[in-house]
Amino acid sequence: MDRHPLPRPGVAEDTLHGMPVRATKRGDDRTPLEGNCDVLICGASFAGLAVARELAGSGAEVLVVDRYEIGERQTSACGIPTDWLRATGLMEAERQRFGSLLIHTPHGSRRYELPWTFSTFDYRELCQLLWEGCDGRFETAKVNGRAAPANGDGAIAVETDRGVLSAPLVVDALGWRRVLASGDGFQPPDAPLSRGLEVHPDGSGEDLEVWIDRRYVPAGYGWSFPAGDELRIGVGSFDPRFHVRETTELLAEDLGRDRVRYQGNWIPHELRRATEGGVFFAGDSAGHCLPLTAEGIRTALYFGIALGRELRGVVEGRQDREAAAAAYAAFHDTHEWKFRWMLRAQRLVPRVPPRLLGPLIRLLGSRRFVDWSFGHYLRIAPPGAPSTNDEQRADQQQPDADQPLGRQRDLVEAEGA
Ligand SMILES: Cc1cc2nc3c(=O)[nH]c(=O)nc-3n(C[C@H](O)[C@H](O)[C@H](O)COP(=O)(O)OP(=O)(O)OC[C@H]3O[C@@H](n4cnc5c(N)ncnc54)[C@H](O)[C@@H]3O)c2cc1C
Repeated sequence: MDRHPLPRPGVAEDTLHGMPVRATKRGDDRTPLEGNCDVLICGASFAGLAVARELAGSGAEVLVVDRYEIGERQTSACGIPTDWLRATGLMEAERQRFGSLLIHTPHGSRRYELPWTFSTFDYRELCQLLWEGCDGRFETAKVNGRAAPANGDGAIAVETDRGVLSAPLVVDALGWRRVLASGDGFQPPDAPLSRGLEVHPDGSGEDLEVWIDRRYVPAGYGWSFPAGDELRIGVGSFDPRFHVRETTELLAEDLGRDRVRYQGNWIPHELRRATEGGVFFAGDSAGHCLPLTAEGIRTALYFGIALGRELRGVVEGRQDREAAAAAYAAFHDTHEWKFRWMLRAQRLVPRVPPRLLGPLIRLLGSRRFVDWSFGHYLRIAPPGAPSTNDEQRADQQQPDADQPLGRQRDLVEAEGA
């Protein structure tokens, strides 16, 4: 194979194909970047960094690219089960911890004592911690899509705004746009995407709060996540056609908080294929965000770790790319029924008559029910390293879930929105 390896970190080399490389690559300062590596990870947020960290010490040349510096652009309210931070050695990034969830409806509020705690964290710090565990190289570059490979060596070529990069193992952790897929016209507002927007005013609070109130959103919820000296106040709509800016501002106003530092995005609420055209997908690009709660950080880490392990098997010569793809896709598929149930619940919530919401929230707030439901919910992606071996994969299987993935998809689609 005609390889032009990318320089490794710490190696006194400042050219790729004779082109200069600089640390800052913004606007006109972006210098050409091209070459081959063993693993190319596109996207340096939760999923991409989790994959990269699993490859540390494997000897693979890993290149991670993102249009922003690592940790520069926060992509969420950064709420996660505390045990996930603990299990992944990321506790330093924690900002605040909560043992209960306060749910508000127009007909009353109810505090749910949780069987496990939930934490908010600092995005930049968490990304830095993840990156410290990696030994790959990072470059800022905007990924435009697949490029035609220069030769027939099985490498996948990726076009960026700085040049073409190629690798035999390529990961798309770029979020819902799934830039490295074939392009199936998956676009809002027709695609199964929710929308979320939040403001980040200075301030503090004691409670993790959620609003199920049609004044803010007909199908979805509002939230306030305190994180030390900052609040993350936002609204998420399961219906992509509902614009959440006005009601995000309304919620902030109702809480007497400033409407500053906006952060928002589309949030996938259906799984997509784990692999396509030789590329591996993890996090939002594979639809790994959970429907109903729009919790996508731990699942991005969870599937990112699982994928990193399969890729490590390839670079260490224990399996080939096709075997890794089959194993990762099988792991992804065993979770589909859980995502399907969450989606059913997401579709049910807006159908509950408003006057029944208050009594229902109170009814479902019994200790036994909360422990049971939140326990199951956590086990969708339990804290720490997922097991991808056959035995534990079987544990993920629902009793009647032995239908092929395509069939399950058909069923989900047939249920309608
Ligand atoms: C308002 C809001 C609040 C949320 N709050 C929570 C929460 O509290 N808890 C939770 O679990 N989930 C939350 N989510 C969902 C969560 O943010 C996502 O599911 C999660 O970020 C997915 O991680 P990811 O690594 O797959 O993608 P992302 O975190 O979206 O990262 C994608 C990365 O790819 C980069 N990128 C994108 N396109 C390109 C390109 N063309 N070229 C180069 N780089 C590119 C981006 O810069 C980014 O770094 C929230 C979502 C929203 C919108």
